[in-house]
Amino acid sequence: MQKGQISVQTENIFPIIKKFLYSDHEIFLRELIANAIDATTKVKTLASRGDVKGELGEITIEILLDKEAKTLTVRDRGIGMSEEEVKKYLNQVAFSSAQEFLERYQEDANIIGHFGLGFYSAFMVADQVDVVTKSYQKDAPAVKWSCQGDPEYTLEEADKAERGTDVILHINEENAEFLEKDRVERLLDKYCKFLPIPIKFGTETKTVSEGEGEEKTEQQIEVDHIINNTAPAWKKQPADLTDEDYRNFYQELYPFSPAPLFWIHLNIDYPFNLTGILYFPKLGNTLEVQKNKIQLYSNQVYVTDDVKEIVPEFLTLLHGVIDSPDIPLNVSRSYLQSDANVKKITGYITKKVADRLQEIFKNQREEYEEKWKDLGVFIKYGMLTDEKFHERALKFALLTNVDGEHYTLDDYREKVKDLQTDKHNKLVYLYTNHPVDHDSFVSAAKDRGYDVLEFDNLIDNHFLQHLEMKLEDVSFVRVDSDTVDQLIQKDEESESVLSEKEQETVKSLFEKATTERAGATVVLKPLSPQDQPVTITKPEFMRRFKEMQALQGMGADQFPDQFNVVVNTNHPIIAEKLVRMRKEEKKEELVGYLFNLAMLNQQMLKGADLTRFIGKTIELIQ
Ligand code: ADP
Repeated sequence: MQKGQISVQTENIFPIIKKFLYSDHEIFLRELIANAIDATTKVKTLASRGDVKGELGEITIEILLDKEAKTLTVRDRGIGMSEEEVKKYLNQVAFSSAQEFLERYQEDANIIGHFGLGFYSAFMVADQVDVVTKSYQKDAPAVKWSCQGDPEYTLEEADKAERGTDVILHINEENAEFLEKDRVERLLDKYCKFLPIPIKFGTETKTVSEGEGEEKTEQQIEVDHIINNTAPAWKKQPADLTDEDYRNFYQELYPFSPAPLFWIHLNIDYPFNLTGILYFPKLGNTLEVQKNKIQLYSNQVYVTDDVKEIVPEFLTLLHGVIDSPDIPLNVSRSYLQSDANVKKITGYITKKVADRLQEIFKNQREEYEEKWKDLGVFIKYGMLTDEKFHERALKFALLTNVDGEHYTLDDYREKVKDLQTDKHNKLVYLYTNHPVDHDSFVSAAKDRGYDVLEFDNLIDNHFLQHLEMKLEDVSFVRVDSDTVDQLIQKDEESESVLSEKEQETVKSLFEKATTERAGATVVLKPLSPQDQPVTITKPEFMRRFKEMQALQGMGADQFPDQFNVVVNTNHPIIAEKLVRMRKEEKKEELVGYLFNLAMLNQQMLKGADLTRFIGKTIELIQ
């Protein structure tokens, strides 16, 4: 047996490895399996060139647990190592790369996926590591390297007939969890699910049937439990995949999730290598929980599901997989954002997403419109947060009206410009966020030939302000923000049939009736006799200001809602009935009733006021 010292350059790194972030201990398994994959891929390449004598044989990588011996073994049938190679690779290469990694790690703990600690990560969980290996080279004797987490190691000849490497970890007390089958299975599922070489972990029982009809027998047999899919969909050619394949792969990634709306297959090899499939999920109204579901891989090895440095913020709403060996992984996250390659990758993904949406919009318009509710959240979010995407999305962003019709921004402009241009030559787009509550306002607007859009998502408030800013000559006005003929301000002014004096009387009557309601302002307007006698309107600017305050968490109740009580002085009930009434008491009763009716129409009559109003109405009917 030989004994030796690993050449420690600065300080003993073993204690540092052991102290490595507790929650990241589990990455040791990925690192060791990644080495096993490398070694196996290399032997396959050599065999394909005829450099390996004899049959290549089985190449499955095996993970073995021995609870009694307290060992976890990663076994591969890769190229193996000769004695010289063990000395060179384990004592020098692996050691110094671990050292380099840890130096970097100490500078900045935020290293992406903690990828690259390599072989020495074994010492995070093991008190002793044995490597028993036999090189593919003819006549190379098998050797056993052993190290107990200090710079001393031993090297001796070993008894191993098969080509390949066993890395045997003697798991320490604190990390006993890695001797549990379930724990290891979950780790394998997380990190190794799509590795390119089959990985065996124990066995599983399978039911096989033989024969036909009456003869048919079923039998339970034990088979190797292969935990990975070695040929995941993203590595295949789009032409070889059906829609069902894409949907099935989505289920493989996110079991029991609702089917995705659309997907994009990414496939590029110049100027960088990147493959992947991104899915548009069904979003609903909940943005946050959907985020951070994209998984980043490097040559099918799982790295992380936190990709915010690699894809633009709004794209983190997408689901799926990105696989790129060109994303530098053993660097800090903050460095990643400034990396030129990563910038290119980010730009490429954004462009691809926009191109794909444009394509679906063009070729599958009906389906696109059907899914707009979900797709729209994503596109609006993108337009709000990414200038380039905004430009691209102008072609396929849609506006939906209360009748469920969809229009592009250009088409909508054409549709409404004749009737909905105001005296300042501005286009006024009417909208409601609640067609049911706003029914009377919506139908009044439609009677005038106006179109009413529907905005109902949390993001829409921001989106319409964004469009106002970008489109410049468009303003959005909620359908209840003014009386119908004032929504779009034209030049013509009608006159009131009432004298100034009569108007003053009407006004003071309404002011008296509304004194108890905070925030109310009485406004007299000579509207059409067909319009409502009294309407509650909520001026657009005031309302938005309040909504903004509420959103910023400032007590929404601090200031009462401001609203206008618009009295139509040309309505017969006002112009004829009210002004001709004699008894003050009757006048007040009528005014109070009209005011309450208008409040009811805006869902503002509640509680005791509503009860009283209903009692009053029943009395009137009797
Ligand atoms: P890296 O894999 O990044 O090179 P590691 O520290 O993980 O760094 O490993 C160092 C070297 O040890 C590898 O480059 C390889 O030559 C050798 N090695 C590690 N594991 C194996 C294995 N299972 N089979 C053959 N060689 C291995």
